Amino acid sequence: MPRADMEIFTLDPQQEAARLAALASTGILDTAPEASYDAITRLTAEYFQADTVLLGFADESRVWIKSYWGEAVRELPRNRSIFDMVHAEDGPVVVPDITQHPQYGSSRLTIRRLDVGSFASVPVRSTEGRILGALTIFGCQPRRRMSLDELRMLESLADMAASQLELRRMRRAFNGQVQRIPHAATNVTAIWPSSVDLRCALDQHQYVLYYQPEVELSTRRIVGVEALIRWRHPERGLIPPLDFIPQAEESGLILPIGDWGLGEACRQIQAWCREDIQNCSLRVCVNLSASQFSREGLADHVEALLRQTGVSSRQLGLEMTESSLIPNIGTAMEVLGSLRRLGISLLMDDFGTGYSSLNYLHSFPFDVLKIDRSFVSRMTDGEQPLQIVRTIIELARVLGMDVVAEGIETCEQYLLLRQMGCRFGQGFLFARPLPVEEISQLLRLPGRELPDPEASEAGSN
Ligand code: C2E
Ligand code: MG
Ligand code: MG
Repeated sequence: MPRADMEIFTLDPQQEAARLAALASTGILDTAPEASYDAITRLTAEYFQADTVLLGFADESRVWIKSYWGEAVRELPRNRSIFDMVHAEDGPVVVPDITQHPQYGSSRLTIRRLDVGSFASVPVRSTEGRILGALTIFGCQPRRRMSLDELRMLESLADMAASQLELRRMRRAFNGQVQRIPHAATNVTAIWPSSVDLRCALDQHQYVLYYQPEVELSTRRIVGVEALIRWRHPERGLIPPLDFIPQAEESGLILPIGDWGLGEACRQIQAWCREDIQNCSLRVCVNLSASQFSREGLADHVEALLRQTGVSSRQLGLEMTESSLIPNIGTAMEVLGSLRRLGISLLMDDFGTGYSSLNYLHSFPFDVLKIDRSFVSRMTDGEQPLQIVRTIIELARVLGMDVVAEGIETCEQYLLLRQMGCRFGQGFLFARPLPVEEISQLLRLPGRELPDPEASEAGSN
């Protein structure tokens, strides 16, 4: 919190040099605002019902506004800016009523053009913890002081801006690698599986779908299943998707393999509905790769499949990560729009990792956010990881989306998620991905309700 007698701007030159180096390495100052930053300020504005939200980064002399909710501002003098206040405090600054503030009346604020009543500002930090920028909300009316929960929420939103910086760094590193590939490839011996192996496996019907239940946490009812591909290899046994999907993507064989997966999932939905009409309320989710989105015919293909199999679009969900949308965003958006018009659910997979889509979350109506397993597994490690999960749940609520927590393995995680208002989840605690015969047995449970994991945990103690 700011001290009333705060004398600021005594910056340690060494620390300042390190901070500027960190900032320069992000490249943030040379580039135009990104859609992801707009998304963050819009979310922040909606959450706090703020009149204005600024996300800015700063060099020695200027603050670079990368996103400004409401108006386009790009560059301001840094001296005595809110950024400097945050930097000098090395933490959040909350000024409930600027007009009453002895030292920082609105005339002293660099951003004079705003009709500011109050503001709250939190740092955006690099992975090493250096302050690179600030996320600031303004209201025209003086506000009451911020609650600790509100402040944490604002900090979590600033962390999202920081994770976009990290994503940018990873993209740059990745682009560097791509350029090196032709060079490296000359030394590489053949990688298994080859495209011939993958093709043969398709022709010989060696791919199978396993299904993992998706559960409503309050009732433990199975509300859907996620289809997860495996390769049943005659010599090598059951091969998990991460061991062959990347090669399938690289060789282009992901297209026929993906078509097979979609067709198989629809046929399975039909079989489950024939077995029990109640199963028609299940949603079966299929994972899609990038190149499947780059194909304009995907929506037509899915529509034809639904018609052939008599499956309703409500019964199908498609899961995607941001990385699958990025390579050809224009086409991906069109394809997603068409799928959406068909009435198919769209799920943002692995949300919260560097690859999740803050960029498109707002501009595109995803129905569901799936919180990445890495967050769920760290949730019990401390307040910060817990807060990230809480923030994602809250964001989804603001955006009117459902949330599915992935990778629930313990009762503690299950209870915490329920307490935080997460409605749906999946994970080994309930069931692993299962072959069709075994998942079909679970679907026959009365009310499709899974046993209480707490009771079985208590029983085993
Ligand atoms: P995903 O879509 O995020 O799927 C969730 C993964 O987490 C699955 O791994 C699942 O087995 C695993 N999992 C679920 N609950 C738990 C848990 O409680 N603990 C732990 N440790 N793991 C859990 P799997 O089946 O190996 O799939 C990995 C990834 O492969 C999937 O991640 C998805 O991105 C991709 N994939 C799977 N099937 C397909 C497919 O048909 N097409 C495409 N393009 N990708 C697929
Ligand atoms: Mg998935
Ligand atoms: Mg996932």
